[in-house]
Amino acid sequence: MEETIIAYRFDRLEETLSQLNKANCAIVAGGTDVMVMHKSRRGVPPKITKPIIFIDHLLELKQVNQNGNDLHIGACCTYSELLRDPLIPMPLKKAIKTIAAPAIRNRGTLGGNICNASPAGDTLPLLYVYNAKLLLRSVNGDRIVPICEFIQGVRRVQREPNEILTEIILPSVLEEGAHVVFEKVGNRNADAIAKVGFAGYIRTKGAVIEDVRFAFGAVGPTMIRSNEIEKKLLGKTIPVTDMDIAKVVAAFDKIIKPIDDQRSTAIYRKTVALNLLRYFLTNSTHIQHI
Ligand SMILES: Cc1cc2nc3c(=O)[nH]c(=O)nc-3n(C[C@H](O)[C@H](O)[C@H](O)COP(=O)(O)OP(=O)(O)OC[C@H]3O[C@@H](n4cnc5c(N)ncnc54)[C@H](O)[C@@H]3O)c2cc1C
Repeated sequence: MEETIIAYRFDRLEETLSQLNKANCAIVAGGTDVMVMHKSRRGVPPKITKPIIFIDHLLELKQVNQNGNDLHIGACCTYSELLRDPLIPMPLKKAIKTIAAPAIRNRGTLGGNICNASPAGDTLPLLYVYNAKLLLRSVNGDRIVPICEFIQGVRRVQREPNEILTEIILPSVLEEGAHVVFEKVGNRNADAIAKVGFAGYIRTKGAVIEDVRFAFGAVGPTMIRSNEIEKKLLGKTIPVTDMDIAKVVAAFDKIIKPIDDQRSTAIYRKTVALNLLRYFLTNSTHIQHI
C-alpha cells in the first residue's frame, strides 16, 4: 500500500504557527538534517511519521538586521545567503565556509544547525561565545532563550511543539574591540564533520582583559563553555602569562571528556582542543597588545 505524507507549506509565518498549534508537525527548513535522519533505502521516500511543515521559504525568517550593536539573523537564512550578507561577521563566515559543500550550503540554515543540536554543529561554538540568544515564537507569543539553555543534549532542545525558532540574536557582535576566532579540525578544510571545533572571544581595554569566552565543539554531548574558568582571566593584563595559560588549560583538561568514535579518538580530540585553547591564549593576546 502507498504511504501518504501530509505536508503543509503556508505563505505566512502566522498561518504556519497556527497549524503547528493544532497538530504536532515535523518542521523542515533546508531538510539537510531531516532527510538524512529519516532516510530509507534508495528510491524509497523518507519515513516521517508526523505531518511535515515547510518553513524555509517564509520571508519573515529570512531577514538579517542590525539593531544598535546587536545582529538579528532570520533562522531560515541559508549558509549561502549569510556568506553574501555584509552584516555577517567574518568569524561566522569562516565557520560557514567549513560546512559541507555549496549544494548543502544552498539549503542548510543557521536555525537548522541550532535545532538539530549536533555536538559537531559547526556554527555552535561561535554562537556560544557570541552569547547568542534565540527568539522562539508560537501563537502564545515570543520568548528569548540563551543558546546554552536551549540546547540540552545531543539532538535535544528546549522547544515546545508549537514553537518555531525565528531569530538568532547576537548581542554586541558589531561592537569594536573584540577579537574572535573560529577553528575547526576535520579530515579536510570543508565537507568534513568536525573532530574538534573551537571558538575564542577576547575583549580588552588597554592591556586589561574585560571579557573572554571559549567554547569547544565535538568533545562532549553539547558545546563546552565554563564561565567559572573564563572568570579567572578577567582583569588580567595581556599578554597572558605562561602560568595563567597553564592554569586555564589545566582547568579545561578536567572538564573536556570526549569519546572515541569513527571520526577520531578521545585522546586526539582532547589534545587538539587544549592546543587550540593554548594557541588562542598565546597568540590572540599578543595580537591585541600590538
Ligand atoms: C552532506 C552533508 C554535509 C553536512 N556537513 C555539515 C558540516 O560540515 N557542518 C555542520 O555543522 N553540519 C553539516 N551538515 C548538517 C546540516 O547541513 C546542518 O546542520 C544544517 O544547518 C541544517 O539546516 P537545515 O535547514 O537543513 O535543517 P533541517 O534538516 O530542515 O532541520 C534540522 C532540525 O531542526 C529543526 N528545525 C529547523 N529549523 C527550525 C526552526 N527555525 N525552528 C524550529 N525547528 C527547526 C527540524 O525540525 C529538524 O529537527 C551536513 C549535512 C549533509 C547532508
